[in-house]
Amino acid sequence: MTSTTLELLQKYSVPGPRYTSYPTAPYFHTGFGEADWADALAAPAADRGLSLYVHIPFCDSLCYYCGCNMVATRDYGKTQPYLAMLEREMAATAQRVDPKRVVRQLHWGGGTPTYLHPDDIRRLMGMMRRHFTLAPDAEISCEVDPRELSHEHLAALREVGFNRLSFGVQDMDPDVQQAVNRIQSEFLIRQVLDWSRELGFSSINLDLIVGLPKQTVASFRRTLERVAVWAPDRLAVFAYAHVPWMKKHQKLINEADLPDSATRLGLQQAVNEMLGAAGYVNIGLDHFARPEDELVRAQQNKTLWRNFQGYTTHKHCDILAFGASSISQTLDVYMQNEKSLKRYEARVAATGFAVERGLKLGRDDQIRRDAITRVMCDLELDFAAFGREWDIAFGDYFADALADLRPLAVDGLVELAPDRIGVTPRGRLFLRNIGMCFDRYLKEAAAEQPRYSRTA
Ligand code: SF4
Repeated sequence: MTSTTLELLQKYSVPGPRYTSYPTAPYFHTGFGEADWADALAAPAADRGLSLYVHIPFCDSLCYYCGCNMVATRDYGKTQPYLAMLEREMAATAQRVDPKRVVRQLHWGGGTPTYLHPDDIRRLMGMMRRHFTLAPDAEISCEVDPRELSHEHLAALREVGFNRLSFGVQDMDPDVQQAVNRIQSEFLIRQVLDWSRELGFSSINLDLIVGLPKQTVASFRRTLERVAVWAPDRLAVFAYAHVPWMKKHQKLINEADLPDSATRLGLQQAVNEMLGAAGYVNIGLDHFARPEDELVRAQQNKTLWRNFQGYTTHKHCDILAFGASSISQTLDVYMQNEKSLKRYEARVAATGFAVERGLKLGRDDQIRRDAITRVMCDLELDFAAFGREWDIAFGDYFADALADLRPLAVDGLVELAPDRIGVTPRGRLFLRNIGMCFDRYLKEAAAEQPRYSRTA
């Protein structure tokens, strides 16, 4: 990449969604309530599988970069009422869902799911199996913090059926770890990976973050070298979002230590180059996988999908999410639970649900979501095929998006042909900007409130 890419990054560096949903979460509203959610759960959807998500918000300590909904506490007693409320929420939900619908995917995230003691890991999975039917080949995954993790934790996860793990590695440089208050040695990571492989987990993902304080291209290349030796099946490389006005604890990060845009570009280049050399395929925005991985195959077959958990092969599943702040998704509804632990527990105790806000999607929302997802997953969009699927004349329906894409085509980020849009290799760094061209809500916000318009 040349300095032109750096100029483009600066030009297109505007606040923009990651499109794990469309419409995006800021458009969920409190007019959507429990009755709406109960209707959505009961809607006939026999052909759609289920994907269950459980949010465990507890962590032992605070990582300064954290963007998750979490509670740092040493008081393990807090987990007990929370687990009890998770069971109530699952029971209330399962009562309304067609019992013939089978769980194809199950995921625990956080926070730190392995904050739970091994016996509570067994208890939580026991309640999930009591209320839902898991397919024998279900993909069952858990986010794992290598720190304070024992062999017993991993053995308990394997015993109850987990077959995939995702480890938070982020960066192995001691200065970076110090700057973000997350110290984890190479020995520790090596050990938990060895345990996981011995226990027979079939897929291991590592999470890395670029853009952390004190990160340099040279130091991150050393992290990438170690990662290549550890040979995970997948990697997610997220860009750190510094939003201290939203996440107050990020003020603990010294802004002078954050990498500048040239360094951030260098970091991204190092990721692409070194993971490519190690045999990984870049899937869209932030995921990498081995060529034989089902995510790569799904991208080739154009069945890849994007949801709150990132890229997935489970397009035809509704997500039922449990726990504080978790977001559920059916074909035409998004629903988010109460974010505060206290309110979540009080509401579930009262009614079995804790709906904070949500959104019912209209047809235009669904069409635009499909277009954004196709671009972010397939890296191309065929006008005729898309038009047939939605019964629209693509060029007329998306005249606004095509006009907005023209400057991106001039900058070499997309190819605009009469019958298709293709994302160029350079454009892969700008997938969010390309998706934004299809986003009706952003356009309306820009028209009403000029402060949201593009800053370029
Ligand atoms: S372990 Fe994860 S959720 Fe907990 S503070 Fe660190 S980054 Fe946030």
